[in-house]
Amino acid sequence: MQGSSLKTLKQVRMYPIPVSDPRVNELITWYLGTLQRAIDLIWENIEWRYRFPRVEKRKRKQVVVIPSKLKAPELPKNKSFKKRLREELLLDCPYAKHWVDAVVRTAYSIMESWRKRYLKGRARKVKPRVRRRFARCKITLMKVDYGEKKIRITVRPGEYIEVSWSGRWFTRMVKGWRVGEVILKDDRVLVPFKSTRIIEVRDVVAWDSNELSLDGFSPRMGFIRVDLKPLQSMKIVYEGKKRIAQSKGLKDIYEKYFARERNRERDFINKLATGLRRLFPNTIHVFEDLEKEDLVSKGKASKSRRKRNARTPWKLIHKKISEKAITVKVSPNNTSRTCPRCGCVVKTRVGRVFKCPRCGSELDRQKLASINIYLKHSKMRGFSHSDDLEKTMKGELWVGVTLSGRSPVIWIPMKRDPEGSEAKGRGLNIKQYQAL
Ligand SMILES: [Zn+2]
Repeated sequence: MQGSSLKTLKQVRMYPIPVSDPRVNELITWYLGTLQRAIDLIWENIEWRYRFPRVEKRKRKQVVVIPSKLKAPELPKNKSFKKRLREELLLDCPYAKHWVDAVVRTAYSIMESWRKRYLKGRARKVKPRVRRRFARCKITLMKVDYGEKKIRITVRPGEYIEVSWSGRWFTRMVKGWRVGEVILKDDRVLVPFKSTRIIEVRDVVAWDSNELSLDGFSPRMGFIRVDLKPLQSMKIVYEGKKRIAQSKGLKDIYEKYFARERNRERDFINKLATGLRRLFPNTIHVFEDLEKEDLVSKGKASKSRRKRNARTPWKLIHKKISEKAITVKVSPNNTSRTCPRCGCVVKTRVGRVFKCPRCGSELDRQKLASINIYLKHSKMRGFSHSDDLEKTMKGELWVGVTLSGRSPVIWIPMKRDPEGSEAKGRGLNIKQYQAL
């Protein structure tokens, strides 16, 4: 079987530190005014250039790159413009000069994201306006004392605001992590804590995202089924409650249920992601790229595929897992109708059992996609497969996540396969697994 490889897992967690200082409010007010001014200046200097419809050939398919003639904005990025912009903004800057640089950078990132959305038809040709009150700091304005757990932010040369994360509820969670660029809000400082870990990857689990379960396949453990029914039931309950509140016109109650549902959903997803990381250490998790799926199967997406995205927040689940473990995405093309043994692509998708018309393989359809996702990933990396794939396909591991408030996450291994195969347990003692 494949050997190990090293991967970097980058994690960022944002935590707030309350702050009460009128200087922060004044700084934010100045920051926003200056930021809008910078956006105005960049906007006035945009060059609009015609782009013509274009079709490109990609992987033997014609792909429309630009659908119709359009005037595309080019942001002014040359040195002389940036210099003038900076000088202009410095004319009205009672703060440390680096604050102007922070403003300029934020202005460009706002404009850049507007430009991208505009080109995709998601934003109108209207100058962006800053509404939320915030000020994004620069690392050059910060001094971090990791021993004292203190962050010193320069306001003016020689004048500082200090915040500390010592004794906060999250202190334990960010032990040994580095501090990134903070964001000032009127009543708090948002601190991104970052960690970079090198992980020795020894295993692969490929996951098929279904409406009621995450169905995984790993050559080492066989099939893994993560039950998502508790999440579904919870959401159904809240849908009912919200519907009643809405029909009675009780807006406050509706909002309350809405918030509660979202909290419980987040809680579930967090536990799921943490649980997977603990249960499968040193593992790459492979998922289908659901963003791509929308493009590939537009208009012809099967009902079941569309349905699975209806209630289960897949994008959020994938995102959370990718924050805690190493993840990879593969194209979802044909994963539910390709024969994993001979590669034959079957047209129809009916019945519980997949039967290959060419080589005669039979397989539970629920398990088909995860194997194909696994194969896609390993082909991508150039591994070959032999018969041991079929041997390991026998093991089965069931995993559950409890939803109830503070009770521990319990991972329940069930369903030993008849031969009592070791495959699923090798090197991993999966009994009752408890998370904190
Ligand atoms: Zn076949």
